[in-house]
Amino acid sequence: MLGIHILKHMEWIMKTIGLLGGMSWESTVSYYQAINQGVKAQLGGLHSAKICLHSVDFAEIAALQHSDDWDALAQILTTAAQSLEQAGADSLVICTNTMHKLAPHLQSQLSIPLLHIADATAEQLVSDGITKVGLLGTRYTMEQDFYTSRLTQGFGIEVVLPSADQRTVVHNVIYEELCVGEINDISRKIYQDIIDSLAAQGAQAVILGCTEIALLISAKDTDVPIYDTTAIHAQAAVNFALA
Ligand code: GLU
Repeated sequence: MLGIHILKHMEWIMKTIGLLGGMSWESTVSYYQAINQGVKAQLGGLHSAKICLHSVDFAEIAALQHSDDWDALAQILTTAAQSLEQAGADSLVICTNTMHKLAPHLQSQLSIPLLHIADATAEQLVSDGITKVGLLGTRYTMEQDFYTSRLTQGFGIEVVLPSADQRTVVHNVIYEELCVGEINDISRKIYQDIIDSLAAQGAQAVILGCTEIALLISAKDTDVPIYDTTAIHAQAAVNFALA
């Protein structure tokens, strides 16, 4: 009797998370796992997260990114995000840093809150006292200002970027290896060296600002503190769902 009562209560309080995934699906798997683990860690037993997932074909998305057609991307993601809202999602979680370029537009098309990956990460950095941070991600995330300015202007965090050559390698490893499920030791070594060079320029920590990078680099691979945006974003979703 008491169990049924508690269950009814939990159903009432746990919100449904809307995942906009498939960018790439390799990291959407990480989100799904981390969010369910997070809910289980807090509620225990058989509890798992309430999730709606809309997963896109990343080949279409990557081609439009490459041709700089952000209007077409906005249309695809708006339709996807609205379908999640209609399906009952209480929040939107875009499972990629890069596509947060469209976050302000998507938020304007929804009545549910969009949980921003850069805000969640910056809040963690601020609470840890980090004021200067290295950033690894796609070319779009590193070079356009939708992400870096959010950290700088929104949270007063100084951002250190890899050199132009390093950015090319970081970007190519993401699209040619990590997003197709290839994890290579040579690429891990290259990333480790780039992380060291960011620390040598004064970065107190490095943001893994692409949701696939944690498939290649984890805390045991470097002495520099790393902030995995996938794990941080997933935890923010759990906190929202259980708040
Ligand atoms: N998942 C990656 C990110 O976090 C890159 C793939 C994409 O372009 O969305 O930026």
